[in-house]
Amino acid sequence: MQPYLWQQAGGKRHVYSTSDYHPIVPGKPFTALCGADVTTTSSDLVQGCWFDPECEDCLMMYVKVSGWTDKEIENMAAIRAAVDAKTRSKGTPK
Ligand SMILES: [Zn+2]
Repeated sequence: MQPYLWQQAGGKRHVYSTSDYHPIVPGKPFTALCGADVTTTSSDLVQGCWFDPECEDCLMMYVKVSGWTDKEIENMAAIRAAVDAKTRSKGTPK
């Protein structure tokens, strides 16, 4: 079991500690890495149907607890910014 997993809950995809909350139970709240207390619905547990946005605070906490260096975090931010820019330009009608 990985120490942390992503879970859609409360309108975002958050990260939780598997030692504290696994398995996630619909209707039972858990505290995400960002500090938010969130609750899943049974539809949040259907994998492949997670369309809610990633929780940015959980992402940053996750990379820090995973031991990423500042340089690796910087690289990730640059890649995400490039992908976001590409996604936005594709969505623009010509
Ligand atoms: Zn979060």
